[in-house]
Amino acid sequence: MVILSSQYLKYTQLEDSFKHKGLRLKLVDELRNKGIRDESVLNAINTVPRHLFMDNSFVGFAYVDKAFPIASGQTISQPYTVAFQTEALQIKRLDKVLEVGTGSGYQAAVLCEMGAKLFTIERQRSLYDFARELLPKLGYHPQFFYGDGYLGLPTYGPFDKIIVTAGADSVPPRLKEQLVVGGRMVIPVGGRQVQVMKIIVRVSETEYTETEAGNFVFVPLLPGVAEQR
Ligand code: SAH
Repeated sequence: MVILSSQYLKYTQLEDSFKHKGLRLKLVDELRNKGIRDESVLNAINTVPRHLFMDNSFVGFAYVDKAFPIASGQTISQPYTVAFQTEALQIKRLDKVLEVGTGSGYQAAVLCEMGAKLFTIERQRSLYDFARELLPKLGYHPQFFYGDGYLGLPTYGPFDKIIVTAGADSVPPRLKEQLVVGGRMVIPVGGRQVQVMKIIVRVSETEYTETEAGNFVFVPLLPGVAEQR
């Protein structure tokens, strides 16, 4: 199964049909029913063509509220999870945001659509390449980094918001340090089976508050960069 390759981008028309738009509207309704309230998040999900972030053959699944396999054993997060994390971040236009785990680039596109100034980092080369090629074609221009997101991007920080889209065994201290005072981080923390969503706010130079917001399942946050194939 060839998924998310540059070949795919070369031969696929980046088509967003009325059918796709209709399916997105239904998805947005579903997310609203599941409790997502922030209209700017719902608008962004209504705008970003999720089907273009998945292999052609999965187009029929793009607007079902489910996670889906992409390349390198990774997944594109479930739309509800993307909406939930984005809402929890309380994004404002021009917020400086760090995303750990670019993956397909879908969450990154949602953040850009909301006006975030986004820095996104991925440890799998093929995914990094894919997202870096696709997003500008859709009019989104985050800065892409290939590397280990455990370390954050110290030379580009501090950030107003940090979103981690892979399950961590604990909160990486280097990421906490890269939040501005008043900044927020949304990160799933736990074991391999299930993680709890943590919302961390840096309230002063040395103090952080932490709240928990339900259970989710993510692929693991792994150290270092992946072996290239
Ligand atoms: N935000 C993505 C979700 C991708 S799944 C989307 O919208 O599609 C999580 C991603 O985190 C995977 O692509 C995985 O390779 C990546 N990842 C895991 N550990 C990482 C690390 N230490 N640094 C950067 N990326 C990492």
